[in-house]
Amino acid sequence: KTFNDFPLSRKTQDGLKKSNYETPTEIQRETIGLALQGHDILGAAKTGSGKTLAFLIPVLECLYHQKWSQQDGLGALIISPTRELAYQIFEVLKKIGTHHDFSAGLVIGGKLLKEESERINRTNIVICTPGRLLQHMDETVHFTADNLQILVLDEADRILDLGFAQTMNAIIENLPATRQTLLFSATQTKSVKNLARLSLKDPMYVSV
Ligand code: AMP
Repeated sequence: KTFNDFPLSRKTQDGLKKSNYETPTEIQRETIGLALQGHDILGAAKTGSGKTLAFLIPVLECLYHQKWSQQDGLGALIISPTRELAYQIFEVLKKIGTHHDFSAGLVIGGKLLKEESERINRTNIVICTPGRLLQHMDETVHFTADNLQILVLDEADRILDLGFAQTMNAIIENLPATRQTLLFSATQTKSVKNLARLSLKDPMYVSV
């Protein structure tokens, strides 16, 4: 099976080809088809399994099928435990998303809140860390996630280990209920299950 066996847009296929991705890994095979059908996903997968593409491909396809354009604002939110991880996701997204017209950006702090907030509403795909995102939700007057289509929680167990359980609850409460959510975690602890219950609707469970 190759990536061409999924019903992917030409733009995503070209981005994958250009990045030399041909054969999906197991987590990608198990996840992408279900996510393209619109299911919420609870994915049990470790770093190194290829889960970054397992959620980035559905993110690109979701916005593509919504005919999302730059002025539609924030359509996809990817929450990562650390700045470093967020940065790595951003690098992969830039490569495979190059043929799409979506704007993408990091919201991980390290610059003035105001400076970041001026961009955030104009960015279609935001990759962020939990603390900084909640800060925008609480303090940035114009921040809106009202049109959010798809939410990704990456390495949920690490997010929770870092003490962000309350932060995540507050974030989820601030997001529109009608959306698709993909949650990935290496371990399925009690706190991961709680977060899954709060954030997912009738999820498909995928484990590799
Ligand atoms: P990840 O688990 O997403 O951090 O990916 C781990 C590594 O596997 C990264 O170096 C990716 O570039 C690589 N990778 C992910 N998916 C594929 C694929 N379908 N074919 C080849 N390499 C891949």
